[in-house]
Amino acid sequence: MPLNETHNPQLRSWVESANVPGSDFPIQNLPFGVFRMPGNPHLFRVGVAIGDQMVDITAAEAGGVFNGAGALAQAGAQACCRPNLNPFMALGAQAWSALRMALSQALREESPQQATLQASLLPQAGAEFAVPAHIGDYTDFYTSVHHASNIGKLLRPDNPLLPNYKWIPIGYHGRSSSIGVSGQAVRRPVSQIMRPGAIEPVMAPSARMDYELEVGIFMGPGNTLGDPVPLTQAEQHVFGLCLFNDWSARDVQGWEYQPLGPFLSKNFASTVSPWVVTLEALAPFREPWTRAAGDPQPLPYLDSAELRENGAINIELEVYIQSDTMRKEGLPEHRLSHSNFRDAYWSVSQMVTHHAANGCNLQAGDLLGSGTQSGPTEEEAGSLMELSKGGKQPLTLPSGETRTFLADGDTVIFRGACCAPGFVRIGFGEVRGTLLPAHPMR
Ligand code: MN
Repeated sequence: MPLNETHNPQLRSWVESANVPGSDFPIQNLPFGVFRMPGNPHLFRVGVAIGDQMVDITAAEAGGVFNGAGALAQAGAQACCRPNLNPFMALGAQAWSALRMALSQALREESPQQATLQASLLPQAGAEFAVPAHIGDYTDFYTSVHHASNIGKLLRPDNPLLPNYKWIPIGYHGRSSSIGVSGQAVRRPVSQIMRPGAIEPVMAPSARMDYELEVGIFMGPGNTLGDPVPLTQAEQHVFGLCLFNDWSARDVQGWEYQPLGPFLSKNFASTVSPWVVTLEALAPFREPWTRAAGDPQPLPYLDSAELRENGAINIELEVYIQSDTMRKEGLPEHRLSHSNFRDAYWSVSQMVTHHAANGCNLQAGDLLGSGTQSGPTEEEAGSLMELSKGGKQPLTLPSGETRTFLADGDTVIFRGACCAPGFVRIGFGEVRGTLLPAHPMR
């Protein structure tokens, strides 16, 4: 993914809020989402974030903003005149890049298109967002070796990291129908739980509700059923990345997960951020992918020179919490931990190539979860299960409350951003969700 003029750190936008240092959405970012304005009964529309505003692509297209931008950019804009991003995602990297270039040129200071485009600008505040794509299939991976080791130690002290971990990008097929967008209220699930020391399970609300700090990967053009995707082509099938909270009920998980993996502990809800940052916007933040010399090197189908050169992506991730009490006392969100996506054991391209290695057909709009992103130090744990050492070490919140797992009314917020010397910082915005009490037991 070569750098081009859209990444130029000197670029400034005539949308003033995009030039404010620390804005998640400077002109170098241009992430895609789906929104509608309050009181407006029309279908959801595709938007592109710029500062605290967004471009209504359907309105801009109708206004002729892309008329002189070339056939590929026009095709891209027309594919965006739909209530979700699937048709645009299916078009492929050339169209994504052409539309990004056209938007970058139209949003720059002194652009002759300012007057035309101004009418298609809407404030993000007050907009209602939707899950950006129709997610046909959702697969959750397990790409942080630190998370896998931390959880493994808690679940299987004698055998923390299973022997396949360093060979296969481990994943399971999740459920797409329960994926919601930031702002989602999630009801505490009820399921079978085997309490410590008990001889029979009970049907009860989960007492060990957790979040998982993940990166979501939205697929672009799919592969034909039966045809694998070579590693060198894998990223051509990836549209972009978002923040992803894979809510998890640890007590349910502990009882049900063997032998076939997570089921009701995971499928009741997951939450995506509204904005999808394209791989092209992430180009300045690529880093070498490495594998420690003492570890098995990947099998040839999961290895390439390009992977070694720039297969990792530097995304700083953060988790915040605000309890109901904190909200009522006016206390700000409290940061629980942070980690970086560059520490993932398996890359985005390796996830895609392994997923399709047997001919499994990925499709535009499919979502891959990266798995919980925990870093090498204890502070970089991407879940409460790890931060509280399996519920044994409570954390203290600024309100004086303690937590081992989530309480009803807790809001969990993830943020993400990319920084690199010589480039403008870009952000992912946030994904937030609030835990509701369980339905009363009958
Ligand atoms: Mn997960």
